[in-house]
Amino acid sequence: MLRCNITKDATMTSRRVLEGRRAIVTGSTSGIGLGIARSLAEAGAAIVLNSHTDTDEDHALARGLADEFGVDVTYRSADMSDGQAARALIEGAGGCDILVNNAGVQHVAAIEEFPVERWNAILAINLSSAFHTCAAALPAMKAAGWGRIINVASAHGLTASPYKAAYVAAKHGLVGLTKTVALEVAGQGITCNAICPGYVLTPLVESQIPDQMRQHNMDRDTVIREVMLARQPSRQFVTVEQLGGVAVFLCSEAAAQITGTTISVDGGWTAL
Ligand code: NAD
Repeated sequence: MLRCNITKDATMTSRRVLEGRRAIVTGSTSGIGLGIARSLAEAGAAIVLNSHTDTDEDHALARGLADEFGVDVTYRSADMSDGQAARALIEGAGGCDILVNNAGVQHVAAIEEFPVERWNAILAINLSSAFHTCAAALPAMKAAGWGRIINVASAHGLTASPYKAAYVAAKHGLVGLTKTVALEVAGQGITCNAICPGYVLTPLVESQIPDQMRQHNMDRDTVIREVMLARQPSRQFVTVEQLGGVAVFLCSEAAAQITGTTISVDGGWTAL
């Protein structure tokens, strides 16, 4: 009986390993950012959700998460295309123990036709925002002697596809930034790593399926398997829960010496 209680207590404690930590997750009102925020909240971390909008739904999402996981959750609007706003997000929240740079956008076009404003926006949101948030977050992490920075890059941070010049350049840049930050803070209790997902079934990806079905005259399952997941050997989407689990692991003591590296979660894409 006693043994049973000890096991149960240990399980409950291990589920709340991040109690007392505060996490800021950029671009976290949907998809991967929200999935990671949910996993960190389930592990007991207080959460700051972010996006560039400021709607009732954004604040309701924060209240919902707080109720569901019994942790403090606030919503802070900040446009990650604006470096000053990115820094203000961190400073306004009073710093953080865990920083997840997740906000990202995409545009697909041949390089000669790639709109300059889309190039600039993708570089700003997917790459430069992480430079600004890291710079703003590191002083408090250094003072505390503990910190976790997780950059949500992509399989496209390690390999390329045609027509995604800005996205591939930004994600490769984010992997380089990850390594540099890791080296600058090595030995100070702070790690910096990049998660590189393959295709994840987020609302963004889901919304492309009907178009692809029409374009290829295929049913949903065939379009997913033969078109969308053609480069993902498992032929299965990555889930946001799986990415959340990797983020929680990177925040754990077991991952304290994992730094400056990339963790591919891509069903084998980058093994090809
Ligand atoms: P999503 O569109 O579902 O979510 C993006 C989030 O970023 C939303 O909350 C959105 O409001 C926010 N956002 C957009 N522009 C912003 C801005 N200017 N400032 C602040 N927030 C902003 O997308 P997702 O699929 O969840 O992608 C999240 C991250 O994961 C991105 O960095 C993306 O590149 C990366 N990623 C996605 C996939 C995939 O298959 N979905 C694969 C690899 C990497």
